[in-house]
Amino acid sequence: MCMKMTLKVGITGGIGSGKSTVCRIFEVLGIPVYYADERAKWLMHNDPKLIEGIKSAFGEATYHPDNTLNRPYLADLVFNDKEKLKILNSLVHPAVFQDGLDWNEVHGDTAYTLKEAAILFESGSYLTVDKIITVFAPKELRIERVLQRDNTDKAAIEARMSKQMPEEEKIERSDFVIYNDGEQSLIEQVLEVHKTLLSQSENFTSS
Ligand code: ATP
Repeated sequence: MCMKMTLKVGITGGIGSGKSTVCRIFEVLGIPVYYADERAKWLMHNDPKLIEGIKSAFGEATYHPDNTLNRPYLADLVFNDKEKLKILNSLVHPAVFQDGLDWNEVHGDTAYTLKEAAILFESGSYLTVDKIITVFAPKELRIERVLQRDNTDKAAIEARMSKQMPEEEKIERSDFVIYNDGEQSLIEQVLEVHKTLLSQSENFTSS
């Protein structure tokens, strides 16, 4: 038997590409957005099972006595230690995965949902979506925008960029690309993708 399903769409792009900005436009169109990075931070503060897992892997000192995360301490531990980072990811990713499933249940009556994640491919969550959008902006423009947005410097931004999957690869693996290069209208591109996704969602079923 075929069942009508909500189409799940992932949206990604490198640091400063404009993912969140694009998602705000989709939200204006009535599409619910799951912000995976923000949600991961929230879960690290609020999910008892995840908190226990982090404490037993990295020690009680990863949380303050009031149970808020000692973020600088944990960041220091994992920043230059790939093994530790892998352990942290193996705790956080399943928690976000489960949380995303619960969130999708709540939004089962919309044509499609969006999941925004900087590391959609790297985390494996691309496997949980049906379509993928990459937001692309040239590197220099991304650096310029992040410098204006965050209290950071160019070297720190480039260090983060170097740890992310190259944009060309993301584009190759995506169904849609939205160019946020200051040349092409963001709103028109979003409307075009929205229209296509609405029509694709009409016939989206699972057997
Ligand atoms: P991150 O992965 O770092 O969270 P992001 O991909 O979500 O970044 P945004 O936060 O949406 O990127 O955009 C980065 C900055 O650039 C923001 O301050 C945003 O307001 C600005 N910005 C994004 N798109 C545009 C645009 N088309 N014109 C001007 N500013 C923009």
